[in-house]
Amino acid sequence: MIRIHRSPFAGCPRDAAAARVLVPVALWLAALGATVLQTGCTASSLPTERADLGRPVSAAALERALEQPGPIAFERIVVADWVVDRGGLINLDHPEAERQGIEAGPEPIEIYLYVLRHPTRGTWLVDSGVAEVFRAEERAPQVSALVGAVMGTDALDVHVSTAEWLETQPRPPAGVFLTHSHMDHVMGLPDVPASVPVFVGLGEARGRSFLNLFTRGTIDRLIARDGALQELDFPPVADGDERSILDVFGDGSLFAIHSPGHTPGSTAFLVRTPHGPKLLVGDTCHTAWGWRNGVEPGSFTADHEANATSLAWLRRLAADHPAIDVHLGHQRLSR
Ligand SMILES: [Zn+2]
Repeated sequence: MIRIHRSPFAGCPRDAAAARVLVPVALWLAALGATVLQTGCTASSLPTERADLGRPVSAAALERALEQPGPIAFERIVVADWVVDRGGLINLDHPEAERQGIEAGPEPIEIYLYVLRHPTRGTWLVDSGVAEVFRAEERAPQVSALVGAVMGTDALDVHVSTAEWLETQPRPPAGVFLTHSHMDHVMGLPDVPASVPVFVGLGEARGRSFLNLFTRGTIDRLIARDGALQELDFPPVADGDERSILDVFGDGSLFAIHSPGHTPGSTAFLVRTPHGPKLLVGDTCHTAWGWRNGVEPGSFTADHEANATSLAWLRRLAADHPAIDVHLGHQRLSR
């Protein structure tokens, strides 16, 4: 049966007047919706300011510094086990993944908290571990129902919460550096006092994507600080160089390497310790297979081409300096 629908505004002078008001409003809302769909929204709506920390250095300067032991005591804590979809962690359409028959399915991963103790600048964290609230049966109040369901946070097996680690420390950390602002890297921040500053890479908070529409509220609630989010002030890449790099404390002990792709502000950290250099690549590479085969992440990555370029640069650095101990986003690389 064919039904003929009348215009909701047809046949009545008062309704026609309403239409003159409502139709332009509806058209404006549709245009606004189309704009959001095309450009997405920012990863965070928290206030952001340029960090007053770090000075630009060349890749050559970083590589020269690697020849000597450094002053930072380094600790990696495995705070949780988790299982996520392999197709998010590895680009299964990559020719190498297809050649080796890597298929979709559950992949066991770990969540890490990195502790950096500098002799004069205090204790700093890279990424944030997992907050106590994620141990509860119920969904963490900071996490929206949609994000909780998609992320599968109920599959988390937390070994040590960030609150438990903090209880063993004489004072809170001086600051937290994030490799990027995805949920599994900010989910320890509810346990870190809100007065402790959080640092992100250039463009991380203001990077736009459609998916941010669903995650931004959760990310904002997890990060929530007293002050503005501190954005590392990476300079434009210098002529003849391929990366923008900051000497974070100005003493060659810690370098931040802008590594865009997984997210716009993704940042790797090179830590010089008494036992040699440690390279924290963040989720520019989640898995041991991805690192060994030079294959960037899958659906969890925003820009595959940029991610692959960043990954290739970090692999080149590690290959040229075999003393570097590489720490991947979510799996251990047995040495
Ligand atoms: Zn991650």
